[in-house]
Amino acid sequence: MSRSINLAVIPGDGIGQEVVAQGLKVLNAVLPQDVKLETKEYDFGARRYHATGETLTDADLADLKKHDAILLGAIGDPSVPSGVLERGFLLKLRFAFDHHVNLRPSKLLPGVATPLAGQPEIDFVVVREGTEGPYTGNGGTIRQGTEHEVATEVSVNTAFGVERVVRDAFARAQARPRKKLALIHKNNVLAFAGHLWTNVFNKVAAEFPDVTTEYMHVDAATIYLVTQPERFDVIVTDNLFGDIITDLAAAVSGGIGVAASGNINPARAFPSMFEPVHGSAPDIAGQGKADPTATVLSVALLLRHLGYDAEAARVEEAVSTDLGARGTTVRSTDEIGDALAVRV
Ligand code: ATP
Ligand code: MG
Repeated sequence: MSRSINLAVIPGDGIGQEVVAQGLKVLNAVLPQDVKLETKEYDFGARRYHATGETLTDADLADLKKHDAILLGAIGDPSVPSGVLERGFLLKLRFAFDHHVNLRPSKLLPGVATPLAGQPEIDFVVVREGTEGPYTGNGGTIRQGTEHEVATEVSVNTAFGVERVVRDAFARAQARPRKKLALIHKNNVLAFAGHLWTNVFNKVAAEFPDVTTEYMHVDAATIYLVTQPERFDVIVTDNLFGDIITDLAAAVSGGIGVAASGNINPARAFPSMFEPVHGSAPDIAGQGKADPTATVLSVALLLRHLGYDAEAARVEEAVSTDLGARGTTVRSTDEIGDALAVRV
C-alpha cells in the first residue's frame, strides 16, 4: 500500500466549504503518522465561473488527474444558470474520469431519525451505473418551440458498460456478510435494455455462486425500500433508476445530512471522487449550521477505496458513536468536526 495520499480538494460552493474543512480535519486525525497527506485545493464552482466563465477546462482535468483521489464538497449556486455547473463540471468530470460506478451506502445509524415506522435495520449499498443510460446526451429535438416539437433522450446501454458495473456490484456483494445482490430494472417494458442487463447479470452471476441474487422491477423496489428496507444488501441498477432510488434510500436512512457517495473508477485509471449527496444548501451557507457527517462518511469511502480499511472503519465507528451520543444538543459544523476528529 502506498504510504502517501495525494488528494485534490474541491470545497466548491455554499456549505461545501464548511463541510470539506471538517472532512479534512478527520482525515488528518485518522491517518497514521507515516502516511504523508498532500492536498491541493481547487476553486471550481460559482466563483470560478463568475470570474472566468470557466467550469472545468482540459488543463484542469490534466492537473486533477495527477491525484490519488478527489474530495468534493458541493457545486452549485442560484447565481449560476441551472445546468451550467451540473453539465460543465459534474457530468464533464464524471465522463472524463470514467466514474462508471456511483456508490451510495445507506445505513440507518443509531440515534438517526427515519420517517419509517419502528427502527428498521437498514444497511445496503446501491451501485449505480454512472456513464450510460439516458445521461450520455444522445438525443435531440426537432421542430423546437412549435406545437409539434419532438424530443428524444436515448438510453445508451453497452454490454461493456453494463458488465463492468455488474461485476463490481457482485464483488461488493461477495465481500459483505449477507452476500445478496438485487438487480433493479424495468425489463418487462424497457425490453431492449432490460434484456441486456438481465442477460449480463445472469452471466456474471455464474462466476459468483456464493452470492444470492434477485431481480426486481424498479416500481416494486420503491415499495420495498419503504416497506422492507432490511431485505436489501447490495443493489445494482442503471443510471436513471439509480438516481431516483438513491435519493429514496437516503430519505429512509437518515436524510441527506448523513448520505455519502463515491464516483468511482474501480481500476484506478483515473482518480475517484468522493462527496456528500447533499448540495450547496445556500439557505444555511456560512452559518456554521451544516452537518458535516455526510462528508466525513465520504472520507471513509475514500479511505477504503485507497486501501486504508482500518482507518475507514475507525471513521465510520466515530460517526456512529457520535450520532448515538448526540441527544438534543445543537452543535456547529466545526464542533461536530472537532468531536469526530477526537473520536477517530
Ligand atoms: P443543489 O442544487 O446544490 O443540489 P439543493 O437546493 O438541491 O442544492 P441541497 O443543497 O442538497 O439542495 O439541500 C436541501 C436543503 O437541505 C438545504 O436547503 C438545507 O436546508 C438542507 N441541508 C442540505 N445539506 C445539509 C447539511 N449537510 N446539513 C444540514 N442541512 C442540510
Ligand atoms: Mg440537489
